[in-house]
Amino acid sequence: MFSPHLNPSMRYVVVGNPVAHSKSPQIHAAFAAQFGLSDFSYERLFAPLDGFEGTLRAFMSEGGRGCNVTVPFKEQAFALADVLTPRAEAAGAVNTLLRQDDGQLLGDNTDGAGLVADVLRHATLVDKRILLLGAGGAARGVILPLAEQKPAAIAIANRTASKAVALADEFASRVTRPLTGVGFDEVYDEFDIVINATSASLGGERIPLPSGVFASGALAYDMMYGRDETPFLAQAREAGVASRVDGLGMLVGQAAEAFALWTGKRPDIAPVLTALRAAL
Ligand code: NDP
Repeated sequence: MFSPHLNPSMRYVVVGNPVAHSKSPQIHAAFAAQFGLSDFSYERLFAPLDGFEGTLRAFMSEGGRGCNVTVPFKEQAFALADVLTPRAEAAGAVNTLLRQDDGQLLGDNTDGAGLVADVLRHATLVDKRILLLGAGGAARGVILPLAEQKPAAIAIANRTASKAVALADEFASRVTRPLTGVGFDEVYDEFDIVINATSASLGGERIPLPSGVFASGALAYDMMYGRDETPFLAQAREAGVASRVDGLGMLVGQAAEAFALWTGKRPDIAPVLTALRAAL
């Protein structure tokens, strides 16, 4: 049994498989330093593919207070949470867990808020036409946070068109803006914000989109990030898009949301993002 009242610990981890590459410990250490939280600790925790629950429970029973959850455990974390935030419920996945004072595990999903916070640093979303590429977990998690910004419309386009259609159908009743799902070959309109939530860039692949998809002054945003330009952002540059952003800011943004949930303190993401970018 948990004994949360006896142990007001500040122990946090990121659980994943693999997890050695995770930048979250650096990010959270920088956040904690902003507030002088010398008791705050955040480490990587590797879990066997068939051992997420055991690893998580052991950490919590040893005084862990919360964790981030990364690939491939976000759906399992969703299933294990005792209580879900509305945005985690909508996303169908949990990337942040908090052991509450009553011992219950609260599951949240901060990816969407992290993306929106970062996009808003570069563009406004009100009345904008948004094209969301991909229909996997990352796309699912950002639909509601994007819709809350009151864009003109959101179109979801995916390699497997049926998944985009299903996702749009699922969320249609929950958003007040037009939401459609199509295949890549059915994208005819132009868009102000084009967000790549596919894993195509991971495999070095481009997305078969008409070059006219980018409206004048459009923002191209790739959830993937790295030292080199991603294939999607190269594609956008060649189409004449001046405003191109990768997903490093989303990573820091989702971490800031988790940190705020755990500590009640909202860190400044800009200096952390600058330092992280320099270290890529
Ligand atoms: P999923 O595996 O759930 O979904 C993958 C999606 O990519 C599907 O829509 C799939 O289409 C599409 N896809 C895969 N390969 C290709 C390809 N060659 N061409 C076109 N489409 C392709 O992955 P996630 O949704 O979890 O993650 C997507 C991306 O978002 C990853 O790159 C991940 O790193 C990034 N991400 C970044 C975060 C950040 O903080 N910056 C946070 C979360 C995710 P289909 O349905 O046809 O298979």
